[in-house]
Amino acid sequence: MKNIKVLYIEDDPETRSLMADIMHYRGYQFFEADRGLQGIRLAKKIIPDLIIIDLLLPDMEGYEVTTMLKSIDEIKDKPIVALTAETRQDTKELTLAAGCDGFINKPINVNEFLFKIEEYLSGKRDRLSNEQEQKYLQKYAVQLVQKLSRKIIELESTNENLSKVNSELHLSKDELSRYNDRLFYLNNLANFLRKRERPENVFEILPQKTIEGFKVDRCVIFRVDQSESLLVPVYHAGFDSGYRVQKINISPILIEKLKDEDGLIWIRNAADVVTYRLEKFSKSFETTNFIISKLNDLAARRDATTVLKAVTEADQQHEILDKYIIFMDKGITEKVFATYEVRILKSFIQSVGSIYENMTLYHQLLETYKISERQAVTDELTGVYNYRYLMRELLREINRTQRFGMPFSVIMFDIDFFKNYNDRNGHPMGDEVLIQLSNLILNNTRKTDTVARYGGEEFFIILPGLEKKRAIAIAKKLRELVEHEYFPKQEHQPHGNFTISLGVSTFPDDSRDLKGLLEKVDTALYQAKHHGRNCIVISGKQNNMIQRPTV
Ligand code: GH3
Ligand code: MG
Ligand code: MG
Repeated sequence: MKNIKVLYIEDDPETRSLMADIMHYRGYQFFEADRGLQGIRLAKKIIPDLIIIDLLLPDMEGYEVTTMLKSIDEIKDKPIVALTAETRQDTKELTLAAGCDGFINKPINVNEFLFKIEEYLSGKRDRLSNEQEQKYLQKYAVQLVQKLSRKIIELESTNENLSKVNSELHLSKDELSRYNDRLFYLNNLANFLRKRERPENVFEILPQKTIEGFKVDRCVIFRVDQSESLLVPVYHAGFDSGYRVQKINISPILIEKLKDEDGLIWIRNAADVVTYRLEKFSKSFETTNFIISKLNDLAARRDATTVLKAVTEADQQHEILDKYIIFMDKGITEKVFATYEVRILKSFIQSVGSIYENMTLYHQLLETYKISERQAVTDELTGVYNYRYLMRELLREINRTQRFGMPFSVIMFDIDFFKNYNDRNGHPMGDEVLIQLSNLILNNTRKTDTVARYGGEEFFIILPGLEKKRAIAIAKKLRELVEHEYFPKQEHQPHGNFTISLGVSTFPDDSRDLKGLLEKVDTALYQAKHHGRNCIVISGKQNNMIQRPTV
């Protein structure tokens, strides 16, 4: 038997070694390649009798490898068989149209596979009908063109980058050292800005820092007015004291243009760019050679802002990021910007912009976070803490007492005859009473006390550090306050006014845990109701003590 050479192009080493075993077993001479290009090179050298290819290779598609192999004279008559696990409907047709002579599905059955291979070796060729071939060739051509255009774009951008690097290398030695100095300054400044407390602080110091570090004479930061056609100066440096930088009208096209120009326009002669009304700048600053650039880019951050807006929809505290524009010139020294300076300034401005935006977003998120945290622990109707927070706080307080030994007291109270009020005046008016009552309590307790809504018209107060005696005094004060507060339509209440019943308990005197404490204070409150309302019951070791109003 003639020594048959089989080339297998496949990137997976295990599959290759399996194939090597099969081929050696059959007595074929086996060659392998793990990349398309490597396979083509090897094929040219050894001129195999049969080539088996995988359709998914890291460097090129199996179709492309086939097309290239078939363009080599010595190989074009050799059978090329695609071995693939591809399951898409038209893959087989596409493969054949691309020039493959056969198509074998993975996984393979060894005997069947060897039989098929021998068929191809002895001249078998799978072909599509002319009509089908036409159809798939067209499809294949479209794919190739798409791929080619992607490659061209890639190449172009690589080229662009290369020419950038190139032009940088064209700097003189002197320029190179200055370029380095400024890069170093830029880096330090960016770090310095990043450490500012608030985003506003970044822009505040920016003009002066720009002048110091970048051989710029004057620098102004403008806020872009909502209308987008007015620039309002906010910070500036490099001007004689007493000089007032004016608002400037620009054309909204400038903003668009800035987007196109990657954020920075270097004006060498203002007269050339009347379209954006930049001649106004030149007149106002008596300059012709200047840089105008946007400091931050809302467009790029719209996603984050939208997310933020959604989160904070309920409250309007958060404004959308303002847009800023920076102006720089050498209007005093009348020097002309060098290309390398403009490039440095550009990356500087981009850094500052993203520092500002990140800081702003960070602060907004922090605000939002604080608000939602507050919302999560607040009772929506009354603004006092909610049940969840109350429980958390009670546990925390118990913990504290157990660790530091300081007792605390709680007051639980309930409005008397509230159902009566609701029935007469309606629920919404009842709600108003709850709000008014909550405010009354909040205004007459300490910041360190926790006032919470326990349930419908039941409230709870934690008095940290207060032993029983002082807690009773507070309970008395609150009972009286409510009794004397005027609530709308209170005349129709059974006693002609609003009153509350209160229970008072102290930890650890009255109980050993949260459950016990809640039971104790609830019982006290229940007893206060039972004893005619508008009174206080104090938990005690033996008998609970009733505190009636002194008439
Ligand atoms: P008592 O003196 O025994 O406490 O009598 P009461 O009518 O206050 O007590 P009851 O428990 O029978 O009724 C409580 C009422 O509180 C029932 C309900 O209409 C009212 N209530 C509970 N939550 C709310 C609320 O959020 N808004 C309003 N408007 N009313 C509420
Ligand atoms: Mg009640
Ligand atoms: Mg009740």
